[in-house]
Amino acid sequence: MLAQPKASHYIDGRFVEDTNGAPLEVIYPATGEVIARLHAATPEIVERAIQSAAAAQAKWARMRPADRGRILRRAADLLRERNDEIARVETLDTGKPIQETTVADPASAAEAIEFFGGVVAGYHGEYIDLGGGPFAYTRREPLGVCVGIGAWNYPIQGASWKSAPALAMGNAMIFKPSENTPLTALMLAEIYTEAGLPDGLFNVVQGFGDVGGALAGHALVAKVSLTGSVPTGRKVLALAGSQMKHATMELGGKSPLIIFDDADVENAVGGAMLANFYSTGQVCSNGTRVFVQDGVYDRFLDRLTARTKKIRIGDPLDPETQMGPLINKAQHEKVTGYIDIGKAEGATLHCGGGVPQLQGFEGGFYVEPTIFTGVKDDMRIAREEIFGPVMSVLSFSREDEVIERANDTEFGLSAGVFTRDLPRAHRVIAEIKAGSCWINHYNLAPAELPFGGFKQSGVGRENSLAALSHYSQLKSVYVETGDVESPY
Ligand code: NAD
Repeated sequence: MLAQPKASHYIDGRFVEDTNGAPLEVIYPATGEVIARLHAATPEIVERAIQSAAAAQAKWARMRPADRGRILRRAADLLRERNDEIARVETLDTGKPIQETTVADPASAAEAIEFFGGVVAGYHGEYIDLGGGPFAYTRREPLGVCVGIGAWNYPIQGASWKSAPALAMGNAMIFKPSENTPLTALMLAEIYTEAGLPDGLFNVVQGFGDVGGALAGHALVAKVSLTGSVPTGRKVLALAGSQMKHATMELGGKSPLIIFDDADVENAVGGAMLANFYSTGQVCSNGTRVFVQDGVYDRFLDRLTARTKKIRIGDPLDPETQMGPLINKAQHEKVTGYIDIGKAEGATLHCGGGVPQLQGFEGGFYVEPTIFTGVKDDMRIAREEIFGPVMSVLSFSREDEVIERANDTEFGLSAGVFTRDLPRAHRVIAEIKAGSCWINHYNLAPAELPFGGFKQSGVGRENSLAALSHYSQLKSVYVETGDVESPY
């Protein structure tokens, strides 16, 4: 099974190769087989990508926003037309089941590109009345050359969530995919070119962390947007800060999902499963600490167990498969290591926890959907991000108690509440220190909503009009209509 792209990088509207770069093997996580061989960017490739972006950006910034938007909307249409082809490559790259990638990945990418292509023409500066003669106005101006650095769980979505607001506002973007999932950003680059995006405005360079650092630290780069782990975020934010660059950090989480006694149990179970098992649990906003109120605890756990046992694990290309493997061996070791830690800490392994033996997929990085009960707040499985299908179920009795426990974390990406008592739902969500919250659902991320975290989970927001503000800078212009009164 091969998914070899024409070349490793995409610069100035065409594929570019430089075999002097470190080898980068792309592995199909379901079998461990190599499906593509690429090269990481050399310093020459990084320089070429940045120079081409800088050369293209000034003219793009002067274009009418509605015209930039039209190109983006055409790209969104092309993404939708090629949905199945892109979904297949995304499945090979990530191991996520085709059942998911067909509906979630290029679809979410297209939604964001269409959204920003649509709203940018209506996103203006302001007129400010200063009383009588003088007035002022503000201009929303692009930052210039921006760098996007992606994680491996949502490759084409990440490339699109970053590039769409950047391009809509008149910036250029150089995108470095995760070294684990380099393929679909190249497909997006081809689509942008086909949609009419001028050459150089969306360049893709491959590589490991050092290439990300070289891009983020380059003098011509005005902004960096990273999706990744908190330790990487700290490094990249420090680098950006040392050069006074703009930065958006979408980082990790250990989010709470709170289920009250009066919740609709089937919906709450469905939400908790979405919050822990989608994409084999490799979702930053996952609600991995599931707090269940005493009165509903047994019913909730019964239904959760029954439905979790029915999850079909297997061949990601089989449309019936509901859960694929983890991304790679290192992640597999990390997740199974946390399952061992949970057992050693005294939590009860309620369900799963093993490595399934699947014929034909012996080299894959599979792990069973896993539920721990009897989890205490101070256990490592309740405090650290696992990034795998491992749910911790914790019980609680009172509203004030669960708010305090839910907030007792260094992270603040997301939270969810299931209850039929809507005043309570709003009251609780207002007290939770997290950026992206859900009431009676979990993990939906429409393009219209800001997405991002509080506390260690990051700074800045993706999606929504907020992302346009993060890819622009304000210029204020005072206009005098009378004489200059000067004491000199
Ligand atoms: P990671 O931090 O290992 O890598 C993320 C990206 O940063 C990769 O492209 C990597 O090459 C690059 N990188 C690594 N070191 C760098 C450096 N020093 N300078 C510049 N770039 C560098 O994260 P990952 O393992 O790919 O992804 C998983 C993490 O991402 C999890 O913590 C998850 O929660 C988080 N995540 C967050 C969001 C969100 O929107 N908040 C979404 C998806 C994933």
